[in-house]
Formats: sequence, structure tokens, C-alpha cells
Amino acid sequence: MENIQAVKGMNDILPDQIGWWQFVESTTRKLFERFGYREIRTPVLEKLELFARSIGESTDIVEKEMYTIADSRGEWLALRPEATASIVRAFIQHNLQADPLARKFYAIGPMFRHERPQKGRYRQFHQIDAEAFGVEDPMLDAEVMYMLGLLLRKLGLTAVVLHINSLGCTECRPVFRERLTAFLEQNVGRLCPDCQRRRHTNPLRTFDCKVDRCQAVLAEAPLLLDSICGHCAEHFSRVKGYLEDLRTPYVINPRMVRGLDYYTRTTFEIITDRLGAQNAVGGGGRYDGLVRDLGGPDVPGIGFAIGMERLILLLQQEQPAPVGVPPVFIAVLGERARHRGFLLSQEIRELGLEVELDYERRSLKSQMRRADKLGSRYVLILGDDEIERNQAQLRDMQEKTQSVLPLSDAPAQLKQLMISAA
Ligand code: ATP
Ligand code: MG
Repeated sequence: MENIQAVKGMNDILPDQIGWWQFVESTTRKLFERFGYREIRTPVLEKLELFARSIGESTDIVEKEMYTIADSRGEWLALRPEATASIVRAFIQHNLQADPLARKFYAIGPMFRHERPQKGRYRQFHQIDAEAFGVEDPMLDAEVMYMLGLLLRKLGLTAVVLHINSLGCTECRPVFRERLTAFLEQNVGRLCPDCQRRRHTNPLRTFDCKVDRCQAVLAEAPLLLDSICGHCAEHFSRVKGYLEDLRTPYVINPRMVRGLDYYTRTTFEIITDRLGAQNAVGGGGRYDGLVRDLGGPDVPGIGFAIGMERLILLLQQEQPAPVGVPPVFIAVLGERARHRGFLLSQEIRELGLEVELDYERRSLKSQMRRADKLGSRYVLILGDDEIERNQAQLRDMQEKTQSVLPLSDAPAQLKQLMISAA
């Protein structure tokens, strides 16, 4: 019989990789909490309508990338392709606006999109997501981008650039949309079939088209940033001012449109040139109409998502893997020593150290080999003789020295040694 394999595009994260993930997650949690963000965990399955209504019916995500499931009563559900919509849903459903502490949220978890798997692009991938509600002032826009940049710096990532743009508001974007449609109409013969369709369904999306001849057409297209209204222009210029206050470098990219329809005004992406075609590490923006559009109060919002696989691919190019502290090893010889060693292992773990021991009555030689393979600095050796004298031998694997310890004091002494070795 053939072995069962994981679903295509969905990866196992094995123990030899997990150090990166834990390092990224713990750094994120510590940093975001300093900015007042609180963790939220929402289900991976939601009603399909939530994503269709928020991300937009005529986006790639909703048109072709979602995993949908019809439940037994015929209701359509979808595996979440991103986190913002779910967090907005929870914000409305639990009336979190009333809670002064629950205005800023972060989430870490898997997302699902049915795309062609390749390096940096998977069908189950993970995002770090942050969302903040209730503030219209551009100071928050700058702070959100600063926090994202600071996280990347704390993780040790340098080869990235912050791109920013403004997508205008419900006043100015529709006006521009008509201008763009007219431009696309004039050039329709030069567009790919997808963009010919998009010129009616979602003309802004044409800026995102990867086809060369469309890019050539779009290079001549009018730009939204040149025709945003006075309020949006004022907002954008203040965002830039605050970014400068925070000494956060940025590049203005007037062709960046983002793949989701809910964005208004400020949008941004973190771009790298080190991952081939998958050049976006993260992105986000303001979504001032989304909470209201999903049936909630008229509350502005802003957020971003970082792709963790892409982030970790970049970190791996720049730095060695994070290393954990190797375990203390307890080697035992004889039945009494085995029982005492078993208890000793728990005593040492209770003091906070990692302990490995022999479960299988191997020879002392093979236990020592295993301790060596695990990278243990210290091995406690117990034989029945030692037990008789209430002692243990302590072997320092690095210095290749051996000494005798009273058994009762062994856990505390080991802890001291490990602290000074660290
Ligand atoms: P792309 O243009 O690469 O398709 P996107 O605009 O669809 O990205 P967003 O919806 O902005 O991506 O999601 C935020 C981040 O999540 C991306 O910048 C990327 O790092 C990551 N991401 C998105 N889709 C995938 C995927 N299929 N596999 C791995 N990471 C992904
Ligand atoms: Mg995409």
C-alpha cells in the first residue's frame, strides 16, 4: 500500500525547523504587547459570505483561491484566506468597541489559499496579523508601520524596503476608477484576457497583473495617487511626516494596489529582492469602511499581515538557526540507580532544566554516546555504588573532567552550573 502523504502545498514544520518559528512567535508577542496589542484567536472556518463581502467578490482570493466547504445544511463555509475579516467579525460580534482594552489585536496562525505551490507560496501558510480599531489619525498609520519595521529589525532582517501608497476613499476612488476604466478601454487590445475582464469588474486590480504586456500598458495609466481628494492627500502627507518623525524610511509606490478590496487611504507592503517572484513579505493598510460594511459601528481600522514562511526563508539566508540549551543527561547503571535516577530526572526538571535519561537499560558506554549526540554539557552518572553513598558522578563533557556530588544537592548544583555555562 502506498504511504499517505500530506496535502499538496501544506507543509509539516518539523522539530529541526521549529526553533525559527518559536523565535519569531515569541519576539512578535513581546513586541506587539508593548504597543498595546492583545492576542485574539478566531476559528479557521468561517461563513463564506464573510470573506466574499469584505475581501471583495472580484478579487483573486475570492474568485479562485478559497477552500470552500458546504456543511450538512447546505451552508457555505470557507477556510480563512486571511485574518482581518475574521477579527472584524469578532470585534462586531462581541461588541469589543465597548472594551477600552480591546482595540488592538494580533493573531498568529494558518491561512489557506488554493494557489500553485512554489517557494514562498503554499496552500496552507501562516501569518502574523495585527489590527487596530477606532483611530482615524495618521499617527496610528505611522505607528503600525513602525511596529512592523521594528519587529523585522528585532528578528535581524535587513534586506527589506517599506513601500507605501494611498488608495483614496469612497469619495475619490470611484472618480478615479472611471478614469482608469476609460484608459483601459482605449487600450483594451493590448490587455490580457483577465485584464480585459477586470476593466469592468475591478479595474484597479490590473495594476497587479503579472503579464508583461499589461505592465507595459499600466506604465502609461493614470495614477490614483495623483487624483486622491484633498482629505486623503492631507492624510497621506501627515502619514509621511510621522514616519519621518519615527525615522522610518519608505518608498512611495503609486502602483501598489493590494489584492483586497477593503483598503482605503494608506496601504503598505514590505518588499524584498531575495525571494524571487514572491517579493512581498507582508502588507496591510487602512480599512475605514469595513467594520460598518460588515454590519458594525462606523469605526475606522488599520492592520497588516506578515507571511511567516517567507519571513523565515529570509531569516535563514541571513543568520544561523537559533539554538536551544542541550539537556542534562542522566546515565544509570543497575536497578537501584535506575529508580533513583528516574526520580532525580523529575527533581531537575522541576527546577527548570531539560533532562534526558536512558529508558532502555543500555550499556553505560552507549548512554554516554547518546549524551554526546544530544550535545549535553553535563552528565550525571549513577551506579548502585553511588546510590549506597548518596552520591552521583558529575561528568563535564566539554572539559572532560569528573567530580562527585551529594545526590540531594545535585539538582541545585546542576542548575548553578547551567546558569554559569549559559
Ligand atoms: P502575493 O502578491 O505574493 O500573492 P498577497 O498580496 O496575496 O501576496 P496578502 O494577502 O497581502 O498577500 O498576505 C500578506 C502576506 O502573506 C504576503 O505578503 C505573503 O508574505 C503572505 N502570503 C500570501 N499568500 C501566501 C501563500 N500562498 N503562501 C505563503 N505566503 C503567503
Ligand atoms: Mg496572492
